[in-house]
Amino acid sequence: MIPQHIEHIVIVGGGTAGWMAAASLSHFLRHQPTRITLVEAPNVPTVGVGEATLPGIRNFNAELGIDEVDFIRKTQASFKLGIRFRDWLRPGSDFFHPFADYGVPLSGVPFDQCFIRARQSDPALQLADYSLPTLLAHEERFAQPSPEPEHPLLDYKYAFHFDALLYAAYLRDYAVERGVRHLRDTVGQVQLNPDSGYIEQLDLNSGATVEGELFIDCTGFRGVLIEDALNTGYEDWSHWLPVDAAWAVGSEVDKDPTPYTVSTAREAGWTWRIPLQHRCGNGYVFSSQYCDADTAQETLLECIDGKPLAEPRLLRFTTGMRKRFWHRNCIALGLASGFLEPLESTSIALIQTGLSKLLMFYPEHGFNNADIAEANRLARLEMERIRDFLILHYQPSQREGAFWQDRRNMALPDTLRHKVDLFRQRGHLVSLEMESFQLASWLSIFYGMGIEPAHCGLRAGELPSDQLQASLTNMRTALASAAAKAPRHGDFIQRHCAAPALSAA
Ligand SMILES: Cc1cc2nc3c(=O)[nH]c(=O)nc-3n(C[C@H](O)[C@H](O)[C@H](O)COP(=O)(O)OP(=O)(O)OC[C@H]3O[C@@H](n4cnc5c(N)ncnc54)[C@H](O)[C@@H]3O)c2cc1C
Repeated sequence: MIPQHIEHIVIVGGGTAGWMAAASLSHFLRHQPTRITLVEAPNVPTVGVGEATLPGIRNFNAELGIDEVDFIRKTQASFKLGIRFRDWLRPGSDFFHPFADYGVPLSGVPFDQCFIRARQSDPALQLADYSLPTLLAHEERFAQPSPEPEHPLLDYKYAFHFDALLYAAYLRDYAVERGVRHLRDTVGQVQLNPDSGYIEQLDLNSGATVEGELFIDCTGFRGVLIEDALNTGYEDWSHWLPVDAAWAVGSEVDKDPTPYTVSTAREAGWTWRIPLQHRCGNGYVFSSQYCDADTAQETLLECIDGKPLAEPRLLRFTTGMRKRFWHRNCIALGLASGFLEPLESTSIALIQTGLSKLLMFYPEHGFNNADIAEANRLARLEMERIRDFLILHYQPSQREGAFWQDRRNMALPDTLRHKVDLFRQRGHLVSLEMESFQLASWLSIFYGMGIEPAHCGLRAGELPSDQLQASLTNMRTALASAAAKAPRHGDFIQRHCAAPALSAA
């Protein structure tokens, strides 16, 4: 039997994915008679290290009616203007990937083309000088962008660093208040309908059973429903993204948080530094093929600023994606749907877009194969675009060592090869269907990783150079002046959204 109506949605897993799903569905289905249950194994810990986000998290919270200041205080959050990449191109290199466009067009010619043209005659010009959030980040300042900026040059987005465990707890309270039933129990067996193969019932370790029509698998890497029960299959992308382990540890903080994540390239991967209000999150994401776990742990402990708050935790994973994110009446969200490594903080954003796809194709009148196929097609494209974006951080690197040499020599996916070839020729940037990262983000990484176009386009080439120079100078001056007026990030937090522990200090 294939269900014709959704009376009961069963979410399995109480990590960030499970509670984001429960909160979102309890809100968007509030006028439906549908019941929602979340089953969470009391003895299987969550990953809990997802701490850096993308700007879309603000929309997610706002749509649920969550007050931003309340959320910041209760999750110990700090603001994130982007990511600072240290030592990626070569030791000593440093660039910033902001959540914003660069500059403004001149006489209808896009800024990136103006910049390419200007840099050909003046290689000292820096992309960073045409981005307000980058300038704010350099000076560790933060201000919220105006909802209606005086000028497009002053527009930008921001995201957060937060404590993932506190965020999951925050959403749990939200969802339970809205009627979600919370069972602390472990799924043992999954009963499938013998004809359709659809999931009908979960047998829990306590002896209880839970029936439902729609099942959401948020059980983490293992995929208890999508993989163990439905054998959906996993596509391994570790030949492109070979990091497969991470040490993670929190540390004490004795200075204000920076309004950005720091990602530093290391011998066999990279380390992160994610500052929150009450502690700093640190980790080393590495490839076990090039570095053993003990050496990786030493590297991490040597590079963190404050005293570690606990023993480092080792997490292992395989980069790639579940072959289908929606299979029969089961949808995988979070780590159960795949993992592309945390370099650009895309996992929580993918939970959000997975939920959007579920709501777009919600099977209120029964399951439709065309809907499921379309949701899977979009999910795949989205993952492939992010995969390509991440590979672009590694492949052009000029760093020494086996890990980096092998990245340099790897064959690129065709979609990325095409983008690189187009950019190298005359700086042409392409946005394909289901891109998570805008053209400006691609521009940041191309320049940051030392890829420069041979020429600019025809229209940029014909701009009068005095007009071009004057315009770029005006942009730089306006942005530097706007950045200088913003408060320090730490002061901004203290004034507007300090978490209770900090206020009391
Ligand atoms: C090293 C690392 C760094 C990361 N950094 C970031 C980042 O900066 N930004 C970002 O966006 N993302 C990041 N992520 C990803 C992020 O952590 C996850 O996307 C997010 O936490 C969601 O995890 P999850 O809820 O899917 O799985 P988990 O946190 O693993 O939760 C799984 C849940 O399933 C339950 N469960 C398991 N088996 C059963 C069962 N049989 N019955 C009932 N319940 C069960 C468990 O009890 C748990 O509650 C990172 C991931 C890693 C590994």
